[in-house]
Amino acid sequence: MGEKKRKKIKTIKVDVDKCNGCRACEVACSAFHAAPKYSSNNPARSRIRVIREPLKDIYVPVYAGEHARAECMGRDKYTIDGKEYDECSFCRASCPSRDLFKEPDSGLPLKCDMCESDPELKQPLCVQWCITDALVYEEREEEVEEAAAGEELDTGLEALADKYGLDKIMEAVARMAVAKKG
Ligand code: SF4
Ligand code: SF4
Repeated sequence: MGEKKRKKIKTIKVDVDKCNGCRACEVACSAFHAAPKYSSNNPARSRIRVIREPLKDIYVPVYAGEHARAECMGRDKYTIDGKEYDECSFCRASCPSRDLFKEPDSGLPLKCDMCESDPELKQPLCVQWCITDALVYEEREEEVEEAAAGEELDTGLEALADKYGLDKIMEAVARMAVAKKG
């Protein structure tokens, strides 16, 4: 069990009814995470994706969440105000069932990091670029359990091991260790 700590909780409130599907949020996010920053934009690299079905007037901004190794056995299908949404529309997982939230070249999972950077942004970039206020940023302080050290590293390594095999990862780490020593 981790320790309790006071932490800033960052929330982006999504008002689906206000989203017009312009995809400015996708452009902003992918540009912010390009290397070097703002050098390119490609919505496929964005950590927010807009599910768009203009004929049904459906625009759902979804944030990339946790990486799921395997497809889940269940499927969610929502009907809201008479509009029927596709299966998994609201799911945030990067999972094998779809291309969403995967780095297009490497296939590695993408996850929203709330635009963590130094210096800190006043508001996440997707929120700044959303002129309809479909995305609204809020923050508050709360007492939370500290994540066990290395949890994120484990997730990243697991994804790499799934893609390339554990042996290849171990070989690469061994090569890197030798290079560092030399
Ligand atoms: S920028 Fe705002 S309105 Fe445009 S697609 Fe994204 S959430 Fe929707
Ligand atoms: S908060 Fe930042 S990282 Fe997350 S989706 Fe928006 S622009 Fe991308």
